[in-house]
Amino acid sequence: MIGGGYVGLVSGACFAEFGTDVAIVETDPVRLAALRDGRIPIYEPGLDKLVADNVAAGRLTFGDDIEQAVQAAEVIFIAVGTPSRRGDGHADLRYVYAAAEQIAKSMKNYAVVVTKSTVPVGTGRQVAELIRRVRPELDFDVASNPEFLREGNAIGDFMRPDRVVIGTDTTKPGGTGRAMEIMRQLYRPLYLIEAPVLFTSLETAELVKYASNSFLAMKVTFINEIADLCERVGAEVHDVARGIGLDNRIGRKFLHPGPGFGGSCFPKDTLALVRIAQDAGSPMRLIETTVDINDQRKIHMAERVIAANGGSVANTTIGVLGLTFKHQTDDMREASSIPILHRLAREGAHLRAFDPAGMQSARPLLPETVHYCEDALDAATGADILLVLTEWNEFRALSPERLRKLMKGNVIVDLRNIWEPRAMRDLGFRYQSVGRL
Ligand code: NAD
Repeated sequence: MIGGGYVGLVSGACFAEFGTDVAIVETDPVRLAALRDGRIPIYEPGLDKLVADNVAAGRLTFGDDIEQAVQAAEVIFIAVGTPSRRGDGHADLRYVYAAAEQIAKSMKNYAVVVTKSTVPVGTGRQVAELIRRVRPELDFDVASNPEFLREGNAIGDFMRPDRVVIGTDTTKPGGTGRAMEIMRQLYRPLYLIEAPVLFTSLETAELVKYASNSFLAMKVTFINEIADLCERVGAEVHDVARGIGLDNRIGRKFLHPGPGFGGSCFPKDTLALVRIAQDAGSPMRLIETTVDINDQRKIHMAERVIAANGGSVANTTIGVLGLTFKHQTDDMREASSIPILHRLAREGAHLRAFDPAGMQSARPLLPETVHYCEDALDAATGADILLVLTEWNEFRALSPERLRKLMKGNVIVDLRNIWEPRAMRDLGFRYQSVGRL
C-alpha cells in the first residue's frame, strides 16, 4: 500500500483484518514515525485498535522501503494524494506518477498495480504506459479500485461497503482474467457478506468515483438552495428534506443543509470533473454551477453572521464551535470554517474557537488572531455571538441555559441546525439557523 494517509491506512488495516499481509509504505517521516510508534497520525474512530490488533498479529507493517514492499507484493495499491492543481482545478497527479515510477523500478514478479487514489479518467492507462516505458519486459496488470469510504466512518464503510468497483484493462490482448481473479480473492470476505462487486473497464471505474462524489455534492447544494428558499417563503427545510427523501428515487441521505460542502474530496473532485468534462468537449454545467454556488455560499455564511449582529462584527467577540469540515474527523481541508473565519477576522471580529479534534490542523489555515479554547464552554464565555460550524455531538449536548449565562451577548448563528429554534428563542437567544423559521 503506497501512502499511509486516510485511505491507505484505513484500507491497509482493513485488508489486514481480512487476513491479507499488508505493508504500508509512507514517505512522510512524521507520519511514519507515529505509525511505527503505535500512534495513529489521523483521527478516525476505531482505527487505533484495528491497526494495533493487526500489527500484533504480524499482518500489518509500516516502512519507507518501497522496493522491499513492492517485491513481496501480489497487489500494489497507489493510495497517495491527488489534490487540486493550483490555478486550474485539474487533479495534480505528480504523486501518483512518482509512485508508479518507483513501483516500476522495484517490481520483480507479476503484480497488479491498482490505483486507489481518485484519479481522472485515463490515468490508469497512463500508469500502465509509464510502467511499460520504465520496464518494458515486466509482466503486470493495472486496475482501478476507487475508494468510497467516508472519514469518520471509514472502517465501517470499508468493511460493509455499498459496492466495490474494480476496473481492469478490458482492451488488453488475452484479457484481464488474472487481474480480476486476484482482485476477487482480495475482496473475498466482502463477497461473503454479499457486497455488490462491479467489474468494469478502467475508464468506467475512474469515472464512477467522480460521478458519485459530484452527484452527492450536487445533492448537498440542492438542499442548501432549498434551505435558502425555505427562509424566504416560511417553510421548514428538514420537513422538506424528509418529504422528498422518503421517495426512494431520491433517498434521505445527504439532504442536510449547512454552510456549504468542504473536505478533502467533494471540492477537488467536483472541480476535477468539470475539467475532465471540458477537456472531453462534453461540459457538465450542473457541476460547474454546483462548484460556483458552493463557493459563494461560504461567503454568504460569513455575511449572515455579520447581518445577525446588525451589520457589523467589528470588535465583537465570536465564540466558534467546530472547525473541521464535518464531525468525527480532524480533517480541515477545504473546511467552510476557513473562508468564513477569515472574512469575520477581516471585519474586525475577535474569534474564540474550539474543535474537539481539528485545532492542530486548523492553526496554519485560520487567521493568526484566532484564540483556541479549552472546550466549547470556554469558547462561549464572554462571546457576543456564538457560531456553530461543525455538528459535533458534544455540541448538541451543551446546555443552552448554561451558554446563555456564559455568553455576553445573545446571538447564535447555528449553521448546522443543532438546536430547536423555538426553544432557543424562549431562552432569550436571537437564534438563526439554516432553512428554518
Ligand atoms: P492523504 O494526503 O491523507 O494521504 C496520502 C499519503 O501518501 C500521505 O501520507 C503521503 O505522505 C503519502 N505519499 C505520497 N507519496 C508517496 C510515495 N511515493 N510513497 C509513499 N507514500 C507517499 O490523502 P488521502 O485522504 O488518504 O487520499 C488519498 C487518495 O484517496 C486521494 O486521491 C483522495 O481523493 C482519495 N480518497 C480520499 C478519501 C478521504 O475521505 N480522505 C475518500 C476516498 C478517496
